Amino acid sequence: MKLKTTIIKRQRQPQITDSNQALIEAALTRAFALALHPGPELELSPIQVAGSSEPTIPLMPDFRICLSFISPARMKEINADQRDVAKVTDVLSFPSLNFHEGQIQESLGVQDLLDPGAEDLEVFLGDILICPARAAKQAENYGHSLERELAFLAVHGLLHLLGYDHEEPGEEARMRALQTQALEDVGLGVSPADLEALADHREEAETPIRKAGFIALLGRPNVGKSTLLNYLLGTEIAITSYKPQTTRTMIRGVLEDKGTQMVFLDTPGIHPAKHSLDRYMSKAISLAMSEADIFLLMIDARFKPRVEEEERRLAQYARDRGKILFLLLNKADLAQADQVLPLIQTFSQSLSFDEIIPLSAKTGEGIDILIDQIKKYLPKGEAIFSSEDYTNQTEAILAGELIRQQVLLQMQEEIPHGVAVKITDFQEKTDAASQEDQVHISADIICDRPGHKAMLLGKGGARIKTIRQKSQREISRILDRKCHLSLYVRVKEGWRDRQPDLADLGYRIQDLEID
Ligand code: GDP
Ligand code: MG
Repeated sequence: MKLKTTIIKRQRQPQITDSNQALIEAALTRAFALALHPGPELELSPIQVAGSSEPTIPLMPDFRICLSFISPARMKEINADQRDVAKVTDVLSFPSLNFHEGQIQESLGVQDLLDPGAEDLEVFLGDILICPARAAKQAENYGHSLERELAFLAVHGLLHLLGYDHEEPGEEARMRALQTQALEDVGLGVSPADLEALADHREEAETPIRKAGFIALLGRPNVGKSTLLNYLLGTEIAITSYKPQTTRTMIRGVLEDKGTQMVFLDTPGIHPAKHSLDRYMSKAISLAMSEADIFLLMIDARFKPRVEEEERRLAQYARDRGKILFLLLNKADLAQADQVLPLIQTFSQSLSFDEIIPLSAKTGEGIDILIDQIKKYLPKGEAIFSSEDYTNQTEAILAGELIRQQVLLQMQEEIPHGVAVKITDFQEKTDAASQEDQVHISADIICDRPGHKAMLLGKGGARIKTIRQKSQREISRILDRKCHLSLYVRVKEGWRDRQPDLADLGYRIQDLEID
């Protein structure tokens, strides 16, 4: 009686190598041998072949499971469908036979066979779904290899299929013992020292939140606010570019570290209001400012040593309301040491800051100091957001932003400021042949003038083709699955000043909210 595994890979990152796969299968085989209680109920009643005089013998079928590796988005979708929680979990099991702690509860019959005509008799034990992206994060938290985490999750899933559970202490201990044994037997055992390290890691990962608060990223356009947010979260949630006014709304990103929950609010850069769109952007800034416990006022470390009106006003606002105020001198990687000191002197003489930190949002230099200081000043409190809810940027919003980023990068000066992107269709699909998850997106690029449309299209459609290809590549990379993108350019003159258009494009003041 053997365990056979069908493996389906539907995720892109991280990849499952052949050696990962071999180890997972070895761990599954071992766990199966340890956890299954063989008994007569597992024998199929002999099949009487009509007209044959052969004596019939009891038949022992093999067991097959289907192990699928899936993307976080798919895991979330399945959880929402099946369990009413839109969460990304590490592993899910769907049993197809009724087992209790390794013992089958109803005798097997011919109807349980996958293919009664086949030479090898097989019954289907169930499905296991694993999210490798999630497993990679856990492996990092626990301080062990991805390989070990994947084997652990697969074995855990298999034990569920065989009717083991961890609801009560007794059953949990039995399940855990089997898991440990199976992993040990395939060379994935842990030494007492490893166990201690693991316990420390677990404790750290599970430390309850005792401090929490909002931190607003403020400053002129282009100083690197969104780059810092992305660096802190280790993933891109806010588009960045070398052009001003890249960020149009308030973007939330949650970071947790050793019992502190930091909710960062990225904002558009401060600039004069010409259109209703600018007023929406100012509103996003003031909302972040009113909520924040800490203001991070960011300047470029290469700025001339002079305090300008924008910075003075922000600092004053913070002081008047008793907010904590940090000065961040970003792009330290580009500045000369003798540039930074005079700048610090000038700012600290005319304004008062709680902390002044030179850093680089690009290289990460100085960011550990920033995190330590933020932790020092944040108020005591429980978590504000669940860790699944780490951003207000949905995948569809992000896809639209990535397209807008390409427009920013490919087009000359004034055009991008009059461009908005509207996602008109966003559909999850599974490729029939490869079983790979894909996303099919249609979007409108809205521009302000007919002349801009011609420029966006380019000669013979060359420009829009580049924008489409590059956007598609970026969306695939960031959403971690293949993307099919269709783009249409449309003209809507004066959309930046018309409320219904602004609302339709997602820029509605009433919708600006922090939670
Ligand atoms: P924001 O408008 O303040 O959000 O600025 P962005 O985050 O969009 O960054 C503006 C530009 O500065 C982008 O091209 C970034 O790649 C670049 N940038 C941001 N931070 C740094 C940094 O620390 N070092 C360097 N070299 N470039 C940076
Ligand atoms: Mg920005």
